[in-house]
Amino acid sequence: MNPVITADFSQFGIRELTFAQLLLKAYAERGADFLGCGLTVNFNTHSGYVFLSDEDYNVGVLDETEEYIVQFYSCPQCGYEGTQQEAVDNGCDFVKNDGYCSKKCYEREWSC
Ligand SMILES: [Zn+2]
Repeated sequence: MNPVITADFSQFGIRELTFAQLLLKAYAERGADFLGCGLTVNFNTHSGYVFLSDEDYNVGVLDETEEYIVQFYSCPQCGYEGTQQEAVDNGCDFVKNDGYCSKKCYEREWSC
């Protein structure tokens, strides 16, 4: 069985390769501070998402302008996923809560 997440370009379709090209262009032109070593372009064959990820599992996606790489968060407590902008739009804040979507999730994780 093929893995769900792959960095093998032969598994990418035309749409995914085009998207990878946009990601690499944004990364080449503007970089992304939060991404470190072991950086690869990945394709989730289930969701169709194409994203950058490093060896520490930091994930970078294109923002809505398709010019900047922004961090994609996943709350370790409740599983809520999104960019900081999407989180703020939904009343959450990953940056303020150290990677958790909300103060409630942050406190629940460390209170038991
Ligand atoms: Zn949460």
